Order: sequence, then structure tokens, then C-alpha cells
Amino acid sequence: MRGPSRPPAERRILLETMGLVEFSRMAAPQAAASAPRPEPHEPRPAAVAVHTPIAAAASAEVVKASDLESLDAVHAAVRSCRACGLCDTRKQAVPGVGHAHAHWMVVGEGPGEQEDVQGEPFVGASGALLDAMLATLGLERNPGPPSRQVFIANAVKCRPPGNRTPSADELAACRPFLQQQLALVRPRMVLALGRVAAQSLLGSEAPVGRLRGKVHQLHDGTPVVVSYHPAYLLRQPWEKARAWEDLCLAASHLDSKGQP
Ligand code: URA
Repeated sequence: MRGPSRPPAERRILLETMGLVEFSRMAAPQAAASAPRPEPHEPRPAAVAVHTPIAAAASAEVVKASDLESLDAVHAAVRSCRACGLCDTRKQAVPGVGHAHAHWMVVGEGPGEQEDVQGEPFVGASGALLDAMLATLGLERNPGPPSRQVFIANAVKCRPPGNRTPSADELAACRPFLQQQLALVRPRMVLALGRVAAQSLLGSEAPVGRLRGKVHQLHDGTPVVVSYHPAYLLRQPWEKARAWEDLCLAASHLDSKGQP
């Protein structure tokens, strides 16, 4: 059962885990004080905005990921990739985890220190918050049926030194891998977390605040909902209410299509 239609007690526990009940008791800072209160039961109606396809990376040195026909092959190519300078400083590449046909795909920015060590995306503090957010939707990263599973990937697969923002060239070099993951998993919903993920998927440089609140589409019609990155939510916890709205929007969009 997906988050928004869970029984109230169960949902409350999940929202507490995500920090949302705590949020509602917090005094909002000045900037957020005028923000609309979240309406978890009445997500905003989905407006569909169509974007151009993900731009193909131009560099001749970019790995031709489009020839890779299984996730294992894509991930092997990611691990040996030397298409940009991030390969020089990574401990290991972090291709992604999840069911090969998960109904949901989460796209983050890029591996941080812990992910670089462990080889799995979102394992640090922001990963714990992401897991709590996914639990509100009835999703988990551990093995299970595709309808409960989420495939978690990043816009770049190698850690930028010092966790800096990946450059446009690094994003372009890694984009074929992300495209191929999307083509193979064929998720029914993509959550783009943060500006960098949204930028890589949608080709838009708009801030998250302008991209969230509507359902975008990739060139093949795959819906994309943009929300705040968990690391940002850890620093600005009062924004979790809006992240919850975004999750509700994504879930209700799938419900409206009759898809689990
Ligand atoms: N932040 C991300 O965007 N991705 C990770 O995998 C970890 C932290």
C-alpha cells in the first residue's frame, strides 16, 4: 500500500521517521513562514510539462553506453569508465542499486564519501532520510517485488572530489549511463532529487523550487517529479513538508494512471 493511502497511524509513524511531524511542531524560519502548508491528502493537480530529450553527450571519448543491453553490462562499463577526470580520484564507481524492473527510479547528484567507499548510492545520512521518504511510499531498496522496489542511481557515478558539484562536462560524460539505466529499467516514475539531477534529466537549469510541483516527461513519456535533495532537507528541515507534497504528487500521478 502506497504512503498517501496508508492508515493514519502507520502514516504518522512514517512521517515521524521522515521528520515531518517534528517539522509541524517547529517554528518555521522567516523565509518559510509564508509557505503554503502541506496538504498530504490533497496533492496539487499534476500539470504536465514536456521537455526535450536528454542531450546526448558530445565528447567522442564518452563511452558508448547505448550498446550495453543489460544493467550488469552498463554497471561493468561504469566501473571501468575513464571518460572524465572523476575516475582519477574515485575509490570506486557507484553505478546504482535496485530491482532491474523497479517501478520507481530515484536519481541523485553523485556519490559522496561513504558511497565512494561502499560502492552503493545514498548510504550516508542523506541516504537514511531518503529511505524514510521512500518508506512513506511503501518503497524499499531491498529485494522485493518491482512494485515495492526503487532503483537508485546518480547523475554522475563517481565522487567529485570534496563533494563539489559535478561539472557540465562530467554530467555529459555520465549521461549515457543514466540514459541506458532508464531505458533498461523503464521505471513508471522518476524522482529527480536536487538541481543537478533535474538538470541532467530535463536539460533545465531552473532551480528546484521552480521545477517541483509538476509532472515533467522524458522524451519517451516517462514521468519525472523533481524534489529537494535529501542533503538539502537535512540542512533545511522545514522544506520536508514540500518534499512530502512532491512524493504525494508522484504517487497520485501513478494512481491516476492505474499503476502501482
Ligand atoms: N548524494 C547523492 O546525490 N547521491 C548519493 O549517492 C549520495 C549522496
